[in-house]
Amino acid sequence: MRLVNQLVIVVGALMLVAGAMAGGECCEKAAATNDWCKGCKEGFYNGVSMSSAKLHKTLAGDPVSTNMKCEGCKAASANDGWCKDCGTGYANKRHYASWVGYRLALGKHTAAKEIKCDACKKASADHGWCDACKAGMVGCERYTDKAQYEAAVAARPVLVAAAKEKCEGCAVAMVTNGKCEACKVSYKDGKKSGS
Ligand SMILES: [Zn+2]
Ligand SMILES: [Zn+2]
Ligand SMILES: [Zn+2]
Ligand SMILES: [Zn+2]
Repeated sequence: MRLVNQLVIVVGALMLVAGAMAGGECCEKAAATNDWCKGCKEGFYNGVSMSSAKLHKTLAGDPVSTNMKCEGCKAASANDGWCKDCGTGYANKRHYASWVGYRLALGKHTAAKEIKCDACKKASADHGWCDACKAGMVGCERYTDKAQYEAAVAARPVLVAAAKEKCEGCAVAMVTNGKCEACKVSYKDGKKSGS
């Protein structure tokens, strides 16, 4: 009997999650691993969905190159750091050209079902710091370092804005402090900047 009750709860929770995702199980899987769903042509990063493959690829980073030339990058790749000279970061043995992708990669990827604490579970819908656990959630990433947490909190609205942006060049520029060549607009920290 108890097992049946638990089953009902699990199925109910799964249905809730499926309802929130556009494409169902395939996208659910992609969202759990920050992947691109080929079938639905929809990408996920930190629980945010996007239809631009280029934006998704920029956020998700690439495997770290084995022959780095830059000393700053060599040092950064050894300790999940950021190379100021190149404007790129390193985390989880991946290389990020996007400051947004980097900051949201520094946490510990934590699936909703792994979160035991209710306050933390609630925070993972967007973000929040839990004093009881001495940890913060930003989407599905868990941080125990407050500075890293706050940097991720600042990055998440830029991720959300870029995912909604109609112009692909602008979306990528937003998350990389770059320039959209089509619109001739530059971005700094997610906002349009001077030139
Ligand atoms: Zn899908
Ligand atoms: Zn470098
Ligand atoms: Zn907690
Ligand atoms: Zn543009």
